[in-house]
Amino acid sequence: MTDWKSRAAALYDGGFRPMFIDGKWVPAASGEVMDARNPANGELLATVPKGAAADIDAAVAAARRAFDGPWSKFTPFERQALLLRIAERFEAEWETLCLSDTLDMGMPIARTLANSRRVLGMLRFYAGQAVAIHGQTIPNSFPGEILSQTVKEPIGVVGAIIPWNAPIAGSVWKIAPAIATGCTVVLKPSEEASLTVLLIARLMAEAGLPDGVLNVVTGHGADAGAALAAHPGVDKIVFTGSTATGQAIARAATGTLKHVSLELGGKSPVIVCRDADMDKAVPVAAMAVFANSGQICIAGSRLFVAREIHDEFVARVADFAGRLRIGHGIDPDTEIGPIISARQSQRIEGFLGLGIEEGARAFTGGARHEAPGLEGGHYIAPTVFGGVTDAMTIAREEIFGPVISAMPFDTLDEVVERANATPYGLAAGIFTNHLGTAHKLSRRIRAGSVWVNMYHAIDPAVPFGGMKMSGYGREGGLEHMYEYLQTKAIWINTD
Ligand code: NAD
Repeated sequence: MTDWKSRAAALYDGGFRPMFIDGKWVPAASGEVMDARNPANGELLATVPKGAAADIDAAVAAARRAFDGPWSKFTPFERQALLLRIAERFEAEWETLCLSDTLDMGMPIARTLANSRRVLGMLRFYAGQAVAIHGQTIPNSFPGEILSQTVKEPIGVVGAIIPWNAPIAGSVWKIAPAIATGCTVVLKPSEEASLTVLLIARLMAEAGLPDGVLNVVTGHGADAGAALAAHPGVDKIVFTGSTATGQAIARAATGTLKHVSLELGGKSPVIVCRDADMDKAVPVAAMAVFANSGQICIAGSRLFVAREIHDEFVARVADFAGRLRIGHGIDPDTEIGPIISARQSQRIEGFLGLGIEEGARAFTGGARHEAPGLEGGHYIAPTVFGGVTDAMTIAREEIFGPVISAMPFDTLDEVVERANATPYGLAAGIFTNHLGTAHKLSRRIRAGSVWVNMYHAIDPAVPFGGMKMSGYGREGGLEHMYEYLQTKAIWINTD
């Protein structure tokens, strides 16, 4: 049995952790630092550079030099081999990566460990794709011997900006396709969770990633992030985060007309039909929100239940929620870890207050969770609200916390209309034993991912992304490759 506590003490000792630019470990140009704290108890894990515009300039310059220089000479087969070596390095250090993530952003260790299929799969999936990129020879309408063909070329320097809620998967999903296609990357992690991304850069460098191909600039969104989004040397921004920040990034990118992909927020519906298998649906519908303490973009936070089974189903979800074990992520038994920061916790508590004020009733939870040993962190009890209407704030806004708003419905037409009545369109869940209902509902819900009799399935080979204000562009699958490639048409007069 792993002794996580002593391994944690050996991993982070409060010291300075530099950032990674052009293959070197460096402080911020300004010399400023920011704290990296464990959200479980507020303990200082390390300090990291507070990077800003000057550091982004240096990182973009390094990424451009690598893109134009040595990296452009790598063959697809060499890039494939590199990705496979990185996957091996990750596999060897998987427990350290997960421990770092748990300490840095609070996700329960059992959950981070379980992510290996997905993350190692990303590296290996894109290793496979690296050698499969190709253009076409296309017939044309010109008389004579004119050959027209397309080639797929890497888009260039990619600026990647990620949130704090899934640093390992979030960063690897931005970096792996870049390596596969021959792009270079400047990555800015969230100011709330930089440490694991720095560890990822270290492992990739150890696996042989050439200098400048990946640069990690730690810092705040308003300075390092904004500088990256507006930088004229960046060809594409890939962003995951809130819709408001996504809008700011899209605006900043117009200055140089750089390409943009946005993975944004959601208010995803989960629809439980009267013929659903309740025993199977209850835990899945509950964890559709409570996983990672609700700090997941795909949280199925609007729970629509057929009126005939509504009361029983919601009571069972509430009972399930009340029994979840809340604690430090480092404890292997913990199911619900801390909220990332005081600010986020207060934001969630604000929604809990509004829910009651607007007339909803908490069947379970509804407040902070306080217990001996949890001082210094912010914990919110998994909450199930009943008596919710579509108009209430808790049913409309993304809470990004462990809060379910349950509502009854009468007909499928009605629930489709209500489920779609949101500016978001990231994900949806459907529980039914009727094949026709599964098919019809999944086609009519406007969301980038629809899961039937399951939730949370995200895979390296399957495209993931949003509709409407949940963003545009896709991560995963072949579509992700095309986000990092551009098409060139080459004409040759062979006469
Ligand atoms: P956020 O938008 O506040 O921050 C995300 C990142 O953007 C951080 O690195 C931050 O420093 C940076 N940033 C902030 N302001 C910026 C600016 N003006 N210019 C450039 N960069 C800036 O989001 P968050 O609070 O870290 O994460 C929570 C949000 O992320 C939620 O809305 C959630 O739904 C969303 N999210 C979406 C997905 C998805 O795949 N769709 C996945 C995870 C999280």
